[in-house]
Amino acid sequence: MARIIVVGDGPAGLAAALFLSRNGQDVVVYAQDQTAMHYALLNNYLGITRLSGTDFQVVARRQVADAGAQVREAEAVAASVTDGGFSVETADGGTERADYLVLAGGKPSQRLADELGAERRDGGGVVVDTEYATTVDRLYAVGRVARPERSQAIISAGAGATAAIDILSREAGRDVHDWDSPPKDG
Ligand SMILES: Cc1cc2nc3c(=O)[nH]c(=O)nc-3n(C[C@H](O)[C@H](O)[C@H](O)COP(=O)(O)OP(=O)(O)OC[C@H]3O[C@@H](n4cnc5c(N)ncnc54)[C@H](O)[C@@H]3O)c2cc1C
Repeated sequence: MARIIVVGDGPAGLAAALFLSRNGQDVVVYAQDQTAMHYALLNNYLGITRLSGTDFQVVARRQVADAGAQVREAEAVAASVTDGGFSVETADGGTERADYLVLAGGKPSQRLADELGAERRDGGGVVVDTEYATTVDRLYAVGRVARPERSQAIISAGAGATAAIDILSREAGRDVHDWDSPPKDG
């Protein structure tokens, strides 16, 4: 089981945490609940006809906690690369290590990406590959932190899920799917 720290509790971070914790990983989310979702009225999230962004966040946070992730009300203030992983400091003086780090805190997470030596584009977004892996091994950047110019909730959630599947696949040493099917009748 890998230890994974997710910095940020918007759609990107919560989606990453959901997929990782559902699949048996040890996940902690640092959360401040200052997401722009609180200003949104979702009419464009496929499968949801109309929902306030705040209501979306309430459901998503509960779903993530029910899946086994720890959602902690704490601000990640510093991060460094350690031997084979990361160390993250919080504003309350705590320090935790992780095997993987997922930056999902929107634009404020760009500073943490800089501290960790991740490359950035001219527009400010963190450089990522198709799996949202940064130029630093085991460091991922999802949602607005990587794509600040074209931000939509469903895109952030998809990015978080993509990064999670990549981490799960790395840990398993093969491509992993997170698929469920309804129980068969009879
Ligand atoms: C007025 C308005 C209306 C919008 N309407 C829509 C809409 O209708 N449909 C739509 O798809 N999108 C809409 N959006 C955009 C949508 O809100 C964003 O695309 C989405 O919130 C991005 O999600 P994210 O997870 O990438 O980042 P964010 O939502 O920015 O989430 C980042 C989270 O991480 C936390 N955080 C940051 N740094 C730290 C740290 N160091 N430690 C701990 N926590 C941290 C923040 O407090 C925040 O809760 C709207 C935005 C605005 C401003």
